[in-house]
Amino acid sequence: MNLDQLISLDRQHVWHPYSAMPNPLPVFPVRAAKGVRLELEDGRSLIDGISSWWTCIHGYNHPRLNAAATEQMAQMSHVMFGGLTHRPAVALAKKLIDITPEPLQHVFFSDSGSVAVEVAMKQAVQYWHNRGQPQKNRFLTIRSGYHGDTFAAMSACDPVNGMHHLFSGVLTQQYFAESPQVRFGEDWQESDIESFEKLLVEKGDRIAAAIFEPVVQNAGGVRFYHPEYVRRASELCKQHNVLLILDEIATGFGRSGKLFACEYANICPDIMCVGKALSGGFMSLAATLTTSHISETFSSGEAGVFMHGPTFMGNPLACAVSLANLNLLESYDWKTTVANIAAQLQRELEPCRQLKAVKDVRVLGAIGVVELHQPVDMGAVQPQFVDQGVWLRPFGRLIYTMPPYIIEPDELTAVTGAIATVAKTL
Ligand SMILES: *Cc1c(COP(=O)(O)O)cnc(C)c1O
Repeated sequence: MNLDQLISLDRQHVWHPYSAMPNPLPVFPVRAAKGVRLELEDGRSLIDGISSWWTCIHGYNHPRLNAAATEQMAQMSHVMFGGLTHRPAVALAKKLIDITPEPLQHVFFSDSGSVAVEVAMKQAVQYWHNRGQPQKNRFLTIRSGYHGDTFAAMSACDPVNGMHHLFSGVLTQQYFAESPQVRFGEDWQESDIESFEKLLVEKGDRIAAAIFEPVVQNAGGVRFYHPEYVRRASELCKQHNVLLILDEIATGFGRSGKLFACEYANICPDIMCVGKALSGGFMSLAATLTTSHISETFSSGEAGVFMHGPTFMGNPLACAVSLANLNLLESYDWKTTVANIAAQLQRELEPCRQLKAVKDVRVLGAIGVVELHQPVDMGAVQPQFVDQGVWLRPFGRLIYTMPPYIIEPDELTAVTGAIATVAKTL
């Protein structure tokens, strides 16, 4: 297959994320990837400023992850998880238990973030069923959130960004609190939590759990909000007999500056979802963690079990690589690394605030955002970034970077420089 055939067959037959068919936007064929760089089929090399959607925190083709995969492949790449178990899954579960807040004790492995969210929501519903309160089967969430593309996960996404009207009648109607307005670093105002509290007071007897992304709302707008919101929400959920699910799929494993963003609020959810950077971007793996308090209700409930079991649950290859990735993260001072990235992003993106197209510049951890007044035309700006040797994928009014932690200062400067150059032309 030559390059022209590849591109033409791709256009004819292959869906890409959020793409149109026919007539999709152009895509860039990649031949290989190493460190922070993507190597295109046409020979160009790009610095990946968004870590393949926030996953490859240690870059591509990392020797330690490759070695873990190779070793595991020599044993077995997959076996079913029903009735069988294996070292990679058990060791990874133990590691996740050790690094997350202490009350989280049970790990459910799944294949993607969306499924980890489905599992969390299903566990919350079944928990109340187990406890004889099946009417508690709705969810409270906050606007501007994103939790995945499957139906239950989608029902908790921002209703406008998530185009809920397209699926009305199919999606369960959840309860939406206003998005937090007090930003990370500003003075807390108790009025910010009022809308969340009001829904708990009015609808608490219907609500199984609150679900949201702690401190950083990611795909729903890359917004950084006050940790006190998370702490107060957790407190209010307890008061109103509602479980708390935290979606740490994007924030987990250091991205926000803490290992998990819930640490900013010093709280522990009843259920936590992780994914994305879990395997270092090597392959798809996600997990849902629960406290013993939740898990204990299942054996005594009507079903006697938790009703979920993916075919590829606990895939040994994904677990082995993920364990290597978490061990790698523990092996160096990632906190300082992320803090240095944050300082550099702040320094180098801040001048963009002066540009007429720019509404806001914000940084938290290894996340840098330049928010524009108008939505970007992706078809136009994507090639501009590629021409500058950088891979970024803006959406809506946002140009953002979430670089691999291994990025060097001069490479990060290339990313922020490209952002400034493009923002100037808008
Ligand atoms: C990406 C993401 C998901 C969905 O994960 P997938 O692996 O794409 O299914 C869920 N929640 C958050 C916060 C995410 O960022």
